[in-house]
Amino acid sequence: MSTLLIENANELVTPEGRHALNGHAMAKLRVIPNGALLSENGVITAVGTTEDVRRQLRQRQSDRSTSHKLNFESNCQSDRSSSYKSSFESNCQSSHELSCESNLPSGHPTSGKLSCGSNFSSDRSSSRQLDLRPDDVIIRDDAITRIDATGKTVLPGFVDPHTHFVFGGYREDEFNLRLQGASYMDIMRMGGGIAATNRATHAASEEELYAEGFKRMDRMLDLGITTVEGKTGYGEDTATEDKMLRVMELLDRDHPVDVVKTYLGAHAVPPSWKGRSGEYIDYLIKEGLPMAAGRAEFCDVFTEEGVFSLEESEKLLRAAKEQGFKLKMHADEIEPMGGAGLAAKLGAVSADHLLKAKDEDLFAMRDAGCIACVLPLTAFSLREPYARARFMIDHGLAVALGTDLNPGSCYSQSIPLMIALATIYMKLTIEETITAITLNAAAAIDRADRIGSLEKGKAADVVILDCPGYRHLSYHFAMNLVDTVIKKGDVVRRPCDRNC
Ligand SMILES: [Zn+2]
Repeated sequence: MSTLLIENANELVTPEGRHALNGHAMAKLRVIPNGALLSENGVITAVGTTEDVRRQLRQRQSDRSTSHKLNFESNCQSDRSSSYKSSFESNCQSSHELSCESNLPSGHPTSGKLSCGSNFSSDRSSSRQLDLRPDDVIIRDDAITRIDATGKTVLPGFVDPHTHFVFGGYREDEFNLRLQGASYMDIMRMGGGIAATNRATHAASEEELYAEGFKRMDRMLDLGITTVEGKTGYGEDTATEDKMLRVMELLDRDHPVDVVKTYLGAHAVPPSWKGRSGEYIDYLIKEGLPMAAGRAEFCDVFTEEGVFSLEESEKLLRAAKEQGFKLKMHADEIEPMGGAGLAAKLGAVSADHLLKAKDEDLFAMRDAGCIACVLPLTAFSLREPYARARFMIDHGLAVALGTDLNPGSCYSQSIPLMIALATIYMKLTIEETITAITLNAAAAIDRADRIGSLEKGKAADVVILDCPGYRHLSYHFAMNLVDTVIKKGDVVRRPCDRNC
């Protein structure tokens, strides 16, 4: 039994429910002062005030074997260092119980998968200890890992429901030329654009894609992301798409951050299929979908003028649905083609971008329960107007936020900047924004029943922020306030990672 207790949080803050929150319900957060959370074997078993949760824990322990019974109030040991004693208040533990190794998640065999430097050795039997510091707050004894969150804010782990984080090569030259005014055609003439990423991804080995993807996931973890969606789509042939999918499968296995996989064979029309987008869709239906079926959970398509038409998109998505995929769409980003309306018609889980989506298509999404996944970092990077998220919420849609991390239009996974854009420019409240990056983001990848909120029965995916209240997320803008990250009840990132 692995047990984790987070206690004394200045605020524990969470949306509630096992489905997306629509419209103004997005602003309803549960805020618990002096909050606490109990996780057992990776699942949340209690959430409430510290007093309530401690009481529940004592009850559970008295129900169990007396050999593991703990009494937090009276069993204080005498050998604690006075320098950190004050942090622990009345909690009781001896100094030998502080060890990074003891906080390693199970089931992650590689030594490099944690972004925590030398203190997370792969040798879990080692008795190496951390140097004790006054602000060390993670304590472990025989039965329980305890985190004192005094002065801090506890939130659900962030979910990023739209990324293209596995890719080869970079396009920094093209990006900087674009900032200086180079046109799309200029960039295409110099061999840039998505075709450049496709070539680099084709040329990269599986090991290279894995190593780069792993580093990007480490950064996500630093920013509090505990689940990420990742898409294929830089393969111009099924073999390369298969390679991208395999890399995501390995990363999902090895890295603490969970990867939800999406097949995006229809990302762009490859040069060798130029002018034959319909035939390319037929190729994907015949070869791509069977390759990805049972491995990728979602099928996505880039529905856009000059890329894939509504008819081609519908043909692919219907075939995907028949082969067991759930659906997503890149819809109405550049031209108002009606992609959002098609997503609603086909029962897609989400439609994403939506910068140019028409009112009636948005209302159809609302009525169909399709999540509106908006991607402000991309609009920021492209100097485009933001999607109308305020309008969507005011008209009852469920809005999620994603980073759209990719090597072309948005090379950033910055949750802090995304929160700033959502609150300052898109006019979401900070409460709505939190729902959009937790519960609604989970709903956008069909996981709202398992993650996205701090509630009994959900996975113990938790972020602890080094700030006294959730409103600091927008107020202390564009700063990373993440202190500790917990994935399925295991501490996978902690403050010492920055220093040791
Ligand atoms: Zn995208």
